[in-house]
Amino acid sequence: MPKLLFRLAASLLQTFEPKLNILMYHRVMPEPDPLRPWEIDQQQFRKHMQWISGNFNVIPLAEAVEQLKNGTLKRRSLAITFDDGYLDNATHALPVLQEFDFHATFFCTSAWLGGGQMWNDKVIESVRLWEDDTLTIDELDLYDLPLASIAEKNKAIASILPKLKYLPTAERQIIAERLESKISELPQLMMHAEQIKQLHAAGMEIGGHTHSHPIIAQLDDQSLQNELTTNKQMLETIIGEEISLFAYPNGKSGTDFRSDQSKLLKQAGFSMAVTTEPATAGRASELYELPRFTPWDSTKNRFLARLLQIQLESR
Ligand SMILES: [Zn+2]
Repeated sequence: MPKLLFRLAASLLQTFEPKLNILMYHRVMPEPDPLRPWEIDQQQFRKHMQWISGNFNVIPLAEAVEQLKNGTLKRRSLAITFDDGYLDNATHALPVLQEFDFHATFFCTSAWLGGGQMWNDKVIESVRLWEDDTLTIDELDLYDLPLASIAEKNKAIASILPKLKYLPTAERQIIAERLESKISELPQLMMHAEQIKQLHAAGMEIGGHTHSHPIIAQLDDQSLQNELTTNKQMLETIIGEEISLFAYPNGKSGTDFRSDQSKLLKQAGFSMAVTTEPATAGRASELYELPRFTPWDSTKNRFLARLLQIQLESR
């Protein structure tokens, strides 16, 4: 968006009710990773925070939503969130957040607190370290995928992940573990209890994200309840405090969760939940379906224009 249009959009927004931008991040990698081109690294994350710092009022999510609901939210308010509980959130995101004195919310899974990786990471890391030149996964009708170069590995990952994503959890796990079994050791990617404690001690909010990151639209009530309460209790034991914020795994309404499942969230003690619907939250937003989006632009003007544009589109 050119500068003039940007200013026009910014001034147009002054006439509307304040909206809340909720940003969603996953990993903040030490360096760019050619097999995870969609993830940002620490340098890029620092840029995002720099661009935000002069232009937005950054507040913790729970406080922001309270202000949104009681009408005291300032214009251009923004909350920062992270999903899944990656180790680099503590080692690479936290120091940058502290440079800017920003408070963020970390939605953590709990199944990998003692080690191990999520299924998608097992796939990516196995492909990275794969020793043969090709890979076959019969169940997915994928045969002899070439893995000799980075480009081929990326192509293979792009073929495998979408096919695995919506398989029943147990089947998905079996295939991911079979890949992993061919590799001597995969790296530690998820936080352990001490890093979650460290984030909390630094003033960050901790929220629930289910125990093992299933597609919850596929779960019956009992299974969802188990996922929610196991996760909540484990996180609460770690930080010694109640948690009340939740992020739906994958986060698309209808595909990944059903709106009626919010009653189970409420029963489990969660007071609000965020999705991955790309929009901004307003006063009328449903508390258990607050929208979020991931900013991806790599220049300041485009990055800020996107945040304003998404506000305008959310009206
Ligand atoms: Zn997630």
